[in-house]
Amino acid sequence: MTYGELRVAVVGGGIGGLTLGLALRRHGITAEVFERTTALGEVGAAVTLTANSVRLLDRLGLRRDLEKASVEPSEVVYRGWRDDGRIAAYPIGRGDAYRHRFGAPWLGLHRAALQQVLSGAWGTEHLHLGREAVALVGRADGVCVEFADGSHHDADVVVGADGVHSVVRSWVTEEQPPRYSGTSGFRGIVPISAVPSLPDPDALQLWMGPGAHLLHYPIHGMINFLAVVDGPTTWPSPTGTAQADPGELAAHFAGWSPALLTLLTAVPQSDRWALFTQLPLQTWSQDRAVLIGDAAHAMLPHHGQGANQTIEDAVVLADCLATIRRGQHATAFHRYELRRRARTRLVQRSSLDKSALLHLPDGPEATARNTALLDLEKQVAWIHEHDAQQPSAHGERLPAPS
Ligand SMILES: Cc1cc2nc3c(=O)[nH]c(=O)nc-3n(C[C@H](O)[C@H](O)[C@H](O)COP(=O)(O)OP(=O)(O)OC[C@H]3O[C@@H](n4cnc5c(N)ncnc54)[C@H](O)[C@@H]3O)c2cc1C
Repeated sequence: MTYGELRVAVVGGGIGGLTLGLALRRHGITAEVFERTTALGEVGAAVTLTANSVRLLDRLGLRRDLEKASVEPSEVVYRGWRDDGRIAAYPIGRGDAYRHRFGAPWLGLHRAALQQVLSGAWGTEHLHLGREAVALVGRADGVCVEFADGSHHDADVVVGADGVHSVVRSWVTEEQPPRYSGTSGFRGIVPISAVPSLPDPDALQLWMGPGAHLLHYPIHGMINFLAVVDGPTTWPSPTGTAQADPGELAAHFAGWSPALLTLLTAVPQSDRWALFTQLPLQTWSQDRAVLIGDAAHAMLPHHGQGANQTIEDAVVLADCLATIRRGQHATAFHRYELRRRARTRLVQRSSLDKSALLHLPDGPEATARNTALLDLEKQVAWIHEHDAQQPSAHGERLPAPS
């Protein structure tokens, strides 16, 4: 029996599902990826990839395509809300400082471009579009995924890479699903030329103020922004997006630096996006099913780590599955959880804490936060220098495949 005979079904063809497929392929395991949408590619928003995931994608042979599709911000800059003064800054692309320190770049790119890089490498042969998983059925010698179109697929293991509202998670655990965080975001992509008054448009910047913050970074001649505000207290919609009243976004940022208002009003106001967070799950796997990415540990986006942690999960799970034979999936899942749970918990927790810090009113707490930000390298190093494939990253040395 060879390792390639392990039958892996991946539910979800997003960032996690495609990365997992590619990482398994490197180990000689062919997965089948099932995606509910009929075409891949999320539009209307961007994502940043930091060194901890870029170095893993590099090992999958994707670095050149990724860098072609991305922009490296000049630096990270934190600012207050009323004026354009800098609170703290750390160089990224400028002088290659970040690459030298962390061994890989920090990149910003359109989500659709990331999907293209991943799906281009994955190809179409083992990608099944328009297949929405609705149930898992345990069998004596495997597991069966049932789809909304009445079809089904048998596998040895099923990976739930189906995002924040995961169907596979409800099969794995009865623990509480992600909950609305009480904060929501508006997104937009604006030509740089439309905001001539914006200081340092080539930087990744966070503007912090009472009850709100604004993140923006460049992506090929455009600026991608995410404006996060406190509220509404309860989420008004059964889905993750809801319409906001006209002018609501601008009203939240009234009195902030005029350059920001120009940025926020340069495009029509987007829908409001609920930001979800997950209490750490005790159970990531059950029988033959296991979770990765947002399905396992949805987190607030304030460290920009949801996708990055998902990529770490995918690569580590592939490594763990590559060391077992059919029927030994419980061992692989155990090793995977050992290597991923503590790490993702810390990032989840820190992202939650950061939410409140970014929205502090002026006062002593905001002053203390600003002082801590002066050592920006320390703030990011524990996340970005982590190499999820190094035994030292998780204190466990895995046995070589036998
Ligand atoms: C506003 C915002 C900004 C963010 N910015 C960043 C950032 O800068 N950096 C970062 O690292 N992270 C960021 N994130 C987080 C990041 O987007 C997620 O953590 C990441 O996409 C998770 O990947 P995933 O593969 O687990 O899920 P997803 O990317 O959501 O993919 C899940 C896939 O599963 C499919 N699917 C769902 N249900 C089924 C089903 N039943 N059957 C078949 N297919 C199914 C979906 O269609 C989708 O394609 C941000 C999130 C938000 C909300």
